[in-house]
Amino acid sequence: MVFLRERDCKDGFILDGFPRTAAQAEALCEILTDMGRRIDMVVDFSVDEEELIKRIVGRRICKNCLMGYNIWFAPPAKEGVCDRCGGELLRREDDSEQTARARFKVYKEQSEELGAYYDAAGKYRKIDGAAGVEEIFEKIEEIIGKK
Ligand SMILES: [Zn+2]
Repeated sequence: MVFLRERDCKDGFILDGFPRTAAQAEALCEILTDMGRRIDMVVDFSVDEEELIKRIVGRRICKNCLMGYNIWFAPPAKEGVCDRCGGELLRREDDSEQTARARFKVYKEQSEELGAYYDAAGKYRKIDGAAGVEEIFEKIEEIIGKK
């Protein structure tokens, strides 16, 4: 948390992907309180389980140039072949559906607990994380503006 003392955090900061659990949120709150600071708002980019599973299970990566694809959302022109270099597309072993569902279950339990923690403090906002980039941007502006 040393970076929070940096000058560019003077007027505010965004934490992305942290805290992940209610216990981490409590620890963060103590640290911030000691620094005379606080969390103003928590934005949950909520994505439906099936959508998220497709994003993970559909991931492919070119073994030559590391270009990323998704067989549903960003497929290559020819199945299994990289558009950019013609290389073979591979799936990472931990991108299997079984692994993705197990990870999602843990994530869901932790994020519900975390959401409840911040909701109790009146700081929790949930938005549709599957929406388009512009829509998400507008929602965030709205949330920050309401603060
Ligand atoms: Zn490639």
